[in-house]
Amino acid sequence: MSDPRTEELRESLALTRARIDAACAAAGRDPADVTLIVVTKTWPVDDVRRLAGLGVRDVGENRDQEARVKAAETSELDLTWHFIGQLQTNKAASVARYADLVHSVDRLRLVEALDQGARKSDRILDCLVEVSLDPPGAQGRGGVAADDAAVVASAIADADHLRLRGVMGVAPVGGDAAAAFARLAEVLSALRRDHAGLDVMSAGMSEDLEQAVAAGATHLRVGSAVLGTRPPLG
Ligand SMILES: *Cc1c(COP(=O)(O)O)cnc(C)c1O
Repeated sequence: MSDPRTEELRESLALTRARIDAACAAAGRDPADVTLIVVTKTWPVDDVRRLAGLGVRDVGENRDQEARVKAAETSELDLTWHFIGQLQTNKAASVARYADLVHSVDRLRLVEALDQGARKSDRILDCLVEVSLDPPGAQGRGGVAADDAAVVASAIADADHLRLRGVMGVAPVGGDAAAAFARLAEVLSALRRDHAGLDVMSAGMSEDLEQAVAAGATHLRVGSAVLGTRPPLG
């Protein structure tokens, strides 16, 4: 596809990759160790196709209904699907069918539901523990308290059809992203004492990807910097 939207995406993708390269250079890191996940939520499946044509391999979505349809409609593209949103247990089996990495595992009931879903789909599903980086008492956002991350991590590691890969975090709104991501990195290194092979730290969005790279993030979840300001949800 080559149309004005493709050219717009080509440009914003190049700018985003340049930001990542600069952040890696500043942190003495190899850009090859940082995966850009383009968050396509609310954008049409044609944008997913355009992005794939521009070399994007990893896409992120936060709602099952939308993600499921997009994944099915682009199955020939061999994309890696990241599920990054708060997940209800009754959607877990659906997500377990198409997701390659679930970033937002934050409670034991969800571990159980994803494990059952992955078993039914005869898959091993990669999972991250979502750790809350909000001040204590913040309401309505996903994530397990840092002190309880080990319990959720062990449940994932013990589940027959799940594989624990690491941690995910979202910086607090209006808060200190660098400090929040440093805490997330600490949670990951603590989990590494009990679990071998943890290789994913998912952190950083359009506004704070530089701080995430500095703190050691391996996966960045970038939406609006690539796709533009999201259309209002209908
Ligand atoms: C929407 C979303 C993103 C992307 O946010 P942008 O600010 O558009 O880059 C990243 N992570 C999560 C969990 C999201 O829901």
